[in-house]
Amino acid sequence: MKILVSNDDGYRAEGILRLNEALKPLGSTVLVAPDRNRSGASNSLTLDVPLRVLESEPDVYYVPGGTPTDCVHLAISGVFADEFDLVCSGINDGANLGDDTLYSGTVAAAIEGRFLGLPTIAFSLCVEQGSGRHFGAAARVARSLVARLLEAPLERGFTLNVNIPDLPYEQLRGIRATRLGGRHRSEAAIAVADPRGRPMYWIGPAGVGQDAGEGTDFHAVAQGYVSVTPLQIDLTRHSALQTVADWLKPLV
Ligand code: MN
Repeated sequence: MKILVSNDDGYRAEGILRLNEALKPLGSTVLVAPDRNRSGASNSLTLDVPLRVLESEPDVYYVPGGTPTDCVHLAISGVFADEFDLVCSGINDGANLGDDTLYSGTVAAAIEGRFLGLPTIAFSLCVEQGSGRHFGAAARVARSLVARLLEAPLERGFTLNVNIPDLPYEQLRGIRATRLGGRHRSEAAIAVADPRGRPMYWIGPAGVGQDAGEGTDFHAVAQGYVSVTPLQIDLTRHSALQTVADWLKPLV
């Protein structure tokens, strides 16, 4: 079992180092990740400049300026002679719940591995201010999920989005299969001034959970359960196909 490990927080982030260590007993790992924090990079590819894949230590590589998707794409598309069997991304320093999955580089790195034919997994630790940053507990959860996947493979071609409450391992209540919930609208952009008094803006924080009831990822994590959501890539709103077909009729 050859496991590709990536993330969006950068190759020296605590979460990816913990994940990489935790997975080593299950197979051989190769870590390929951005050189810096690229959180929020989503599925972006770098197409305007060539990229370098530099070795930091054996089986640990970083890509200066690269996005998470760049890292996984390059790793599974010819940089390495061997094929990978699985992509694991994370452990992200922060939750990736509901709408976060659209922006997340952590989830994007896992999604980029979908061509491998095995499920790929994104792990996120739901860190909040002062919550303790229990990356060790999250790494144990990650290892048991990957071990389960090796023992009982899932069907081809989807991504598991795993969110782990930021609690000591003993305080985790269990694990739940969930659907994505949704957030309220983000908070307003935060204006700051540059040294010449010109305005600049920080993107404001994500909104709190709105669609966060029973069955959602938000609910599971709030109750102390690890949340596991199977994702799909097809964004088609199948239930609206007929409505749109009818709406288009005067035009065809
Ligand atoms: Mn991140």
